[in-house]
Amino acid sequence: MEFAHESEAEFARILDFYGISWLYEPSSFPLRRKGERILEAFTPDFFLPDLNLYVELTTLRQKLTTEKNRKVRLLRELYPQVNIKLLNRRDYLRLLAKYGYGPPDAKKVPEIDRVLASARQIQRRVAELGAQISRDYSGQAPVAVGILKGVFFFMADLLRHTSLPVSVDFMAISSYEGDSGGAVKILKDLDLSITDQHVLLVEDIVDTGMTLNRVLERLRSHRPASLKVCALLDKRARRLVDVPLDYVGFEVPDEFVVGYGLDYQQRYRNLPFIGVLKQEALS
Ligand code: 5GP
Repeated sequence: MEFAHESEAEFARILDFYGISWLYEPSSFPLRRKGERILEAFTPDFFLPDLNLYVELTTLRQKLTTEKNRKVRLLRELYPQVNIKLLNRRDYLRLLAKYGYGPPDAKKVPEIDRVLASARQIQRRVAELGAQISRDYSGQAPVAVGILKGVFFFMADLLRHTSLPVSVDFMAISSYEGDSGGAVKILKDLDLSITDQHVLLVEDIVDTGMTLNRVLERLRSHRPASLKVCALLDKRARRLVDVPLDYVGFEVPDEFVVGYGLDYQQRYRNLPFIGVLKQEALS
Protein backbone atom coordinates (compact mmCIF):
# COMPACT_ATOMS: atom_id res chain seq x y z
CA MET A 1 0.00 0.00 0.00
CA GLU A 2 1.36 3.41 -1.03
CA PHE A 3 0.70 6.15 1.50
CA ALA A 4 1.21 9.84 0.84
CA HIS A 5 2.85 10.34 4.26
CA GLU A 6 4.69 8.20 6.78
CA SER A 7 2.19 9.35 9.44
CA GLU A 8 -0.58 7.64 7.46
CA ALA A 9 1.40 4.39 7.24
CA GLU A 10 2.00 4.54 11.00
CA PHE A 11 -1.68 5.18 11.67
CA ALA A 12 -2.59 2.17 9.48
CA ARG A 13 -0.19 0.02 11.49
CA ILE A 14 -1.80 1.16 14.74
CA LEU A 15 -5.24 0.24 13.39
CA ASP A 16 -3.97 -3.15 12.21
CA PHE A 17 -2.51 -3.79 15.62
CA TYR A 18 -5.89 -3.18 17.25
CA GLY A 19 -7.75 -5.27 14.65
CA ILE A 20 -9.69 -2.33 13.26
CA SER A 21 -10.25 -2.63 9.53
CA TRP A 22 -9.56 0.40 7.37
CA LEU A 23 -9.71 1.61 3.78
CA TYR A 24 -7.29 4.22 2.52
CA GLU A 25 -8.89 7.14 0.66
CA PRO A 26 -11.89 5.07 -0.50
CA SER A 27 -14.27 7.95 -1.32
CA SER A 28 -14.29 11.52 -2.53
CA PHE A 29 -17.02 13.90 -1.51
CA PRO A 30 -17.85 16.74 -3.93
CA LEU A 31 -17.87 20.04 -2.00
CA ARG A 32 -18.51 22.55 -4.77
CA ARG A 33 -20.11 22.03 -8.15
CA LYS A 34 -20.89 24.11 -11.15
CA GLY A 35 -23.63 22.28 -13.01
CA GLU A 36 -22.27 18.82 -13.66
CA ARG A 37 -18.68 19.87 -12.98
CA ILE A 38 -17.08 19.24 -9.59
CA LEU A 39 -14.98 22.25 -8.63
CA GLU A 40 -13.82 21.02 -5.27
CA ALA A 41 -13.83 17.63 -3.58
CA PHE A 42 -12.52 16.19 -0.36
CA THR A 43 -11.04 12.72 0.07
CA PRO A 44 -10.58 11.76 3.72
CA ASP A 45 -7.47 9.67 4.40
CA PHE A 46 -9.14 6.69 6.01
CA PHE A 47 -12.52 5.04 6.35
CA LEU A 48 -12.97 2.61 9.24
CA PRO A 49 -15.97 0.50 8.16
CA ASP A 50 -16.54 -1.21 11.53
CA LEU A 51 -16.84 2.17 13.20
CA ASN A 52 -18.47 3.90 10.24
CA LEU A 53 -15.89 6.63 10.73
CA TYR A 54 -13.75 8.68 8.37
CA VAL A 55 -10.42 9.92 9.71
CA GLU A 56 -8.36 12.73 8.29
CA LEU A 57 -4.80 13.19 9.57
CA THR A 58 -3.35 16.67 9.51
CA THR A 59 0.20 16.50 10.70
CA LEU A 60 1.25 19.29 8.37
CA ARG A 61 1.74 23.02 8.67
CA GLN A 62 -0.90 25.24 10.27
CA LYS A 63 -1.92 26.82 6.96
CA LEU A 64 -2.82 23.45 5.50
CA THR A 65 -4.60 22.47 8.70
CA THR A 66 -6.79 25.57 8.47
CA GLU A 67 -7.67 24.59 4.91
CA LYS A 68 -8.52 21.06 5.98
CA ASN A 69 -10.63 22.36 8.85
CA ARG A 70 -12.61 24.39 6.33
CA LYS A 71 -13.15 21.35 4.12
CA VAL A 72 -14.19 19.15 7.02
CA ARG A 73 -16.68 21.82 8.15
CA LEU A 74 -18.12 22.00 4.66
CA LEU A 75 -18.26 18.22 4.39
CA ARG A 76 -20.19 18.01 7.66
CA GLU A 77 -22.65 20.64 6.43
CA LEU A 78 -23.22 18.97 3.07
CA TYR A 79 -23.17 15.36 4.29
CA PRO A 80 -24.48 15.40 7.85
CA GLN A 81 -24.74 11.60 7.87
CA VAL A 82 -20.96 11.29 7.37
CA ASN A 83 -19.03 10.73 10.57
CA ILE A 84 -15.55 12.26 10.27
CA LYS A 85 -12.79 12.94 12.78
CA LEU A 86 -9.82 15.20 12.18
CA LEU A 87 -6.65 14.15 13.97
CA ASN A 88 -4.32 17.13 14.01
CA ARG A 89 -0.61 17.20 14.57
CA ARG A 90 -1.04 17.51 18.33
CA ASP A 91 -3.47 14.56 18.51
CA TYR A 92 -1.18 12.50 16.37
CA LEU A 93 1.92 13.24 18.43
CA ARG A 94 0.03 12.32 21.56
CA LEU A 95 -1.05 9.08 19.97
CA LEU A 96 2.59 8.31 19.25
CA ALA A 97 3.76 9.47 22.68
CA LYS A 98 1.29 7.06 24.17
CA TYR A 99 3.04 4.24 22.39
CA GLY A 100 6.42 5.25 23.68
CA TYR A 101 7.63 7.66 21.01
CA GLY A 102 8.52 10.42 23.40
CA PRO A 103 10.81 13.37 23.06
CA PRO A 104 14.13 12.00 21.77
CA ASP A 105 16.20 13.56 24.51
CA ALA A 106 15.58 11.91 27.87
CA LYS A 107 16.68 15.11 29.64
CA LYS A 108 13.62 16.79 28.19
CA VAL A 109 11.30 14.40 30.04
CA PRO A 110 8.80 16.88 31.35
CA GLU A 111 7.55 17.74 34.79
CA ILE A 112 3.96 18.21 35.72
CA ASP A 113 2.23 21.24 34.26
CA ARG A 114 -0.80 21.13 36.55
CA VAL A 115 -2.83 18.80 38.73
CA LEU A 116 -6.17 17.60 37.35
CA ALA A 117 -7.28 15.54 40.32
CA SER A 118 -5.66 15.83 43.73
CA ALA A 119 -5.07 12.80 45.94
CA ARG A 120 -8.01 13.87 48.08
CA GLN A 121 -10.35 14.34 45.11
CA ILE A 122 -9.37 10.94 43.77
CA GLN A 123 -10.03 9.24 47.08
CA ARG A 124 -13.44 10.89 47.40
CA ARG A 125 -14.50 9.92 43.90
CA VAL A 126 -13.17 6.37 44.16
CA ALA A 127 -15.12 5.91 47.41
CA GLU A 128 -18.29 7.09 45.62
CA LEU A 129 -17.70 4.65 42.79
CA GLY A 130 -17.08 1.82 45.25
CA ALA A 131 -20.36 2.60 47.05
CA GLN A 132 -22.29 2.77 43.78
CA ILE A 133 -20.84 -0.53 42.57
CA SER A 134 -21.68 -2.16 45.91
CA ARG A 135 -25.30 -1.03 45.54
CA ASP A 136 -25.58 -2.11 41.90
CA TYR A 137 -24.12 -5.56 42.53
CA SER A 138 -25.90 -6.11 45.80
CA GLY A 139 -26.49 -9.84 46.39
CA GLN A 140 -23.92 -10.79 43.75
CA ALA A 141 -20.28 -11.85 43.86
CA PRO A 142 -18.71 -10.16 40.82
CA VAL A 143 -15.27 -10.77 39.37
CA ALA A 144 -13.27 -7.55 39.03
CA VAL A 145 -10.80 -7.74 36.15
CA GLY A 146 -8.05 -5.12 35.95
CA ILE A 147 -5.85 -4.37 32.95
CA LEU A 148 -2.21 -4.04 34.02
CA LYS A 149 -0.24 -2.01 34.73
CA GLY A 150 -1.85 1.42 34.97
CA VAL A 151 -4.86 0.22 36.93
CA PHE A 152 -3.08 -1.06 40.03
CA PHE A 153 -3.67 1.96 42.31
CA PHE A 154 -7.24 2.44 41.18
CA MET A 155 -8.17 -1.24 41.44
CA ALA A 156 -6.75 -1.50 44.95
CA ASP A 157 -8.52 1.64 46.20
CA LEU A 158 -11.80 0.90 44.42
CA LEU A 159 -12.11 -2.61 45.82
CA ARG A 160 -11.30 -1.36 49.32
CA HIS A 161 -14.46 0.72 49.01
CA THR A 162 -16.75 -2.11 47.90
CA SER A 163 -18.67 -4.21 50.39
CA LEU A 164 -19.08 -7.25 48.14
CA PRO A 165 -17.65 -10.77 48.09
CA VAL A 166 -15.61 -9.82 45.05
CA SER A 167 -12.99 -11.95 43.24
CA VAL A 168 -10.03 -10.27 41.62
CA ASP A 169 -8.14 -11.06 38.46
CA PHE A 170 -5.78 -9.22 36.11
CA MET A 171 -4.94 -9.31 32.45
CA ALA A 172 -1.88 -7.88 30.77
CA ILE A 173 -1.90 -7.05 27.10
CA SER A 174 0.80 -5.89 24.74
CA SER A 175 0.58 -2.31 23.56
CA TYR A 176 1.44 -1.07 20.14
CA GLU A 177 5.16 -0.70 19.49
CA GLY A 178 6.13 0.76 16.15
CA ASP A 179 5.93 -1.36 13.03
CA SER A 180 6.71 -4.67 14.69
CA GLY A 181 3.52 -6.08 13.14
CA GLY A 182 1.09 -8.47 14.80
CA ALA A 183 -1.95 -7.64 16.84
CA VAL A 184 -2.80 -7.07 20.50
CA LYS A 185 -1.40 -10.02 22.42
CA ILE A 186 -2.55 -11.34 25.75
CA LEU A 187 0.60 -11.34 27.90
CA LYS A 188 -1.27 -12.54 30.96
CA ASP A 189 -4.70 -14.10 30.63
CA LEU A 190 -7.32 -14.57 33.30
CA ASP A 191 -6.65 -17.11 36.02
CA LEU A 192 -10.33 -17.40 36.94
CA SER A 193 -13.18 -18.66 34.81
CA ILE A 194 -15.66 -15.87 34.11
CA THR A 195 -18.27 -17.94 32.28
CA ASP A 196 -21.69 -17.16 33.83
CA GLN A 197 -20.02 -14.69 36.24
CA HIS A 198 -20.80 -11.01 36.66
CA VAL A 199 -17.66 -9.29 35.41
CA LEU A 200 -16.57 -5.74 36.13
CA LEU A 201 -13.72 -4.66 33.92
CA VAL A 202 -11.61 -1.97 35.58
CA GLU A 203 -9.49 0.33 33.41
CA ASP A 204 -7.25 3.28 34.18
CA ILE A 205 -8.08 5.47 31.19
CA VAL A 206 -10.11 5.13 28.03
CA ASP A 207 -8.68 7.20 25.24
CA THR A 208 -9.43 6.08 21.66
CA GLY A 209 -11.25 3.05 23.08
CA MET A 210 -9.28 0.63 20.92
CA THR A 211 -7.73 -1.27 23.84
CA LEU A 212 -11.00 -1.60 25.69
CA ASN A 213 -12.80 -2.70 22.55
CA ARG A 214 -10.32 -5.51 22.06
CA VAL A 215 -10.43 -6.61 25.70
CA LEU A 216 -14.24 -6.57 25.79
CA GLU A 217 -14.40 -8.77 22.69
CA ARG A 218 -12.12 -11.21 24.41
CA LEU A 219 -14.09 -11.22 27.68
CA ARG A 220 -17.42 -11.61 25.88
CA SER A 221 -16.11 -14.75 24.20
CA HIS A 222 -16.08 -16.39 27.66
CA ARG A 223 -19.83 -15.73 27.95
CA PRO A 224 -20.00 -13.95 31.32
CA ALA A 225 -23.44 -13.46 32.90
CA SER A 226 -22.89 -9.70 32.61
CA LEU A 227 -20.05 -7.40 31.67
CA LYS A 228 -19.68 -3.80 32.82
CA VAL A 229 -16.83 -1.32 32.60
CA CYS A 230 -15.46 0.98 35.26
CA ALA A 231 -12.87 3.49 34.06
CA LEU A 232 -11.11 5.93 36.32
CA LEU A 233 -10.57 8.44 33.51
CA ASP A 234 -12.52 9.08 30.36
CA LYS A 235 -10.78 11.06 27.64
CA ARG A 236 -14.00 11.24 25.68
CA ALA A 237 -12.89 13.86 23.20
CA ARG A 238 -10.49 11.39 21.64
CA ARG A 239 -12.78 8.42 21.21
CA LEU A 240 -12.54 6.50 17.96
CA VAL A 241 -14.32 3.31 19.04
CA ASP A 242 -17.57 3.89 20.84
CA VAL A 243 -17.29 1.65 23.91
CA PRO A 244 -19.90 1.81 26.68
CA LEU A 245 -18.60 2.94 30.09
CA ASP A 246 -20.82 2.10 33.05
CA TYR A 247 -18.80 3.88 35.75
CA VAL A 248 -16.43 6.80 35.22
CA GLY A 249 -14.26 8.52 37.81
CA PHE A 250 -13.39 11.71 36.00
CA GLU A 251 -13.71 12.99 32.50
CA VAL A 252 -10.32 14.41 31.48
CA PRO A 253 -9.48 16.84 28.70
CA ASP A 254 -7.56 15.90 25.61
CA GLU A 255 -4.15 16.03 27.28
CA PHE A 256 -1.58 13.44 28.29
CA VAL A 257 -1.97 12.63 31.96
CA VAL A 258 0.22 10.78 34.44
CA GLY A 259 0.14 9.71 38.07
CA TYR A 260 -1.96 7.40 40.26
CA GLY A 261 -0.76 4.42 38.23
CA LEU A 262 -0.46 6.13 34.85
CA ASP A 263 2.98 6.46 33.37
CA TYR A 264 4.96 8.32 30.81
CA GLN A 265 7.67 5.96 29.61
CA GLN A 266 7.28 4.02 32.86
CA ARG A 267 7.74 7.08 35.11
CA TYR A 268 5.31 9.02 37.32
CA ARG A 269 3.13 6.02 38.22
CA ASN A 270 3.74 6.60 41.92
CA LEU A 271 2.41 10.17 42.01
CA PRO A 272 -0.60 10.24 44.35
CA PHE A 273 -2.43 12.73 42.09
CA ILE A 274 -3.27 12.88 38.39
CA GLY A 275 -1.50 15.60 36.48
CA VAL A 276 -0.90 16.86 32.98
CA LEU A 277 2.55 16.72 31.48
CA LYS A 278 3.87 19.93 30.02
CA GLN A 279 2.94 20.35 26.36
CA GLU A 280 6.47 20.70 25.08
CA ALA A 281 7.31 17.28 26.45
CA LEU A 282 5.12 15.61 23.85
CA SER A 283 5.96 17.67 20.80
P1 5GP B 1 -6.95 3.50 24.05
O1 5GP B 1 -6.81 2.13 23.47
O2 5GP B 1 -8.30 3.79 24.67
O3 5GP B 1 -6.54 4.56 23.06
O4 5GP B 1 -5.83 3.65 25.16
C1 5GP B 1 -5.94 3.12 26.40
C2 5GP B 1 -4.59 2.99 27.04
O5 5GP B 1 -3.69 4.00 26.59
C3 5GP B 1 -4.70 3.19 28.52
O6 5GP B 1 -4.95 1.96 29.18
C4 5GP B 1 -3.36 3.79 28.88
O7 5GP B 1 -2.44 2.77 29.10
C5 5GP B 1 -2.95 4.55 27.65
N1 5GP B 1 -3.28 6.00 27.74
C6 5GP B 1 -4.21 6.69 27.05
N2 5GP B 1 -4.20 8.00 27.37
C7 5GP B 1 -3.24 8.16 28.28
C8 5GP B 1 -2.76 9.30 29.02
O8 5GP B 1 -3.21 10.44 28.92
N3 5GP B 1 -1.75 9.05 29.89
C9 5GP B 1 -1.20 7.80 30.05
N4 5GP B 1 -0.23 7.67 30.93
N5 5GP B 1 -1.63 6.71 29.38
C10 5GP B 1 -2.64 6.89 28.51
